Amino acid sequence: MKNRLQQAGMQLEEVRDLDDLERVPVMKKPELIAAQRQHLPFGGLCGLNPEELHRIYISPGPIYEPGEAVGHDYRWAQALYAHGFRRGDIAQVTFNFNMVPVGFWLDEALRQLGCICVPAGVGNTELQLQIMRELRVTAYLGTPSFLATIADRAEEIGLDLKRDLQLEVAFVAAEVLTESLRGNLEERFGMMVRQSYGTADVGCLGFECGAKAGMHLPDDAIVEIVDPKSGRPGCPNEPGEVVATVFDRAYPLIRFGTGDLSLVTEDPCACGRTSPRLVRILGRVDQAAKVKGLFIHPNQVDDVSKRIAELGNCQVVVTRQANQDRMVFRAEVVTSGFDPGELADRVGRMVQEIFRLKSEVDLLPPSSIAVGAKKIDDQRKWD
Ligand SMILES: [Zn+2]
Repeated sequence: MKNRLQQAGMQLEEVRDLDDLERVPVMKKPELIAAQRQHLPFGGLCGLNPEELHRIYISPGPIYEPGEAVGHDYRWAQALYAHGFRRGDIAQVTFNFNMVPVGFWLDEALRQLGCICVPAGVGNTELQLQIMRELRVTAYLGTPSFLATIADRAEEIGLDLKRDLQLEVAFVAAEVLTESLRGNLEERFGMMVRQSYGTADVGCLGFECGAKAGMHLPDDAIVEIVDPKSGRPGCPNEPGEVVATVFDRAYPLIRFGTGDLSLVTEDPCACGRTSPRLVRILGRVDQAAKVKGLFIHPNQVDDVSKRIAELGNCQVVVTRQANQDRMVFRAEVVTSGFDPGELADRVGRMVQEIFRLKSEVDLLPPSSIAVGAKKIDDQRKWD
């Protein structure tokens, strides 16, 4: 941090209030990754000694995130409380507990609120449904699309979502929640569905309340909306990059640029909370897109084509059907005499390895993809 300030012509002692903070350069993700590569494992950004850490999380990159032994972060608990979670709720967490921090963070937040955590993890719709019924689960945590998948499966096997399940509240994140999907889920389950926003680097940065009129900023983080080029804050109601300063003792990132585009409103909220709210997340600042909760980047498209000799130009097309993201990997084949089934399988496996997402594969003759076409053609429309 000291070095970064000096590079910007500032001294550590000069940073005394929020106005001074605005002059601190925004740290973008590539800079964080480069710092870690130079000084493994944390790039000099860990605030504690190794014996004070309890976990090291791993995010795609890989990026290593230190987690402290005794949790002092109450932001996710603020989010859950605002979503209607209360002491005694039995909460099924369907986020990932492998490597990444989100599952553990939510487990800790549930403990802080006096809720019971069922660490179910991702996938296994049938088993999740059985657990939900047999434990009389009252709270769901996961992506909205997986909740929709559970609802569909339950109805397929003849269950009544309101009578046979006891769900009352849902915490959803990692995907766009459209009002149509929210309305559909709330109606079918007879429950309250609220969304939160955060990243693996800086944790929770916003959460909806009962009024569902944007996501309140948590009390113990500084969230700014800045011009992505200059790093200077803009006006309320003006879109910009979400930049966060957090007081996590293990990982105190200062002015971390999330790469997410959003805007803030300071209009009063019906719930009575006085904190400003993120109106919504508009998308990624750069060209990256979020598909099924995971970021995909144009570079990954080239990674696939480079690894398979038969492929020329490639492109990913993302659409939205029945409230689920649909990804199609379009690939020009530049050789002849290949087995289409075998090649499509091979491309599919490579796409899954590189994007960590399942995708449909469309093999095309050469020159099918227009010159200058986007590597990621995001055709999703949000209501
Ligand atoms: Zn509110």
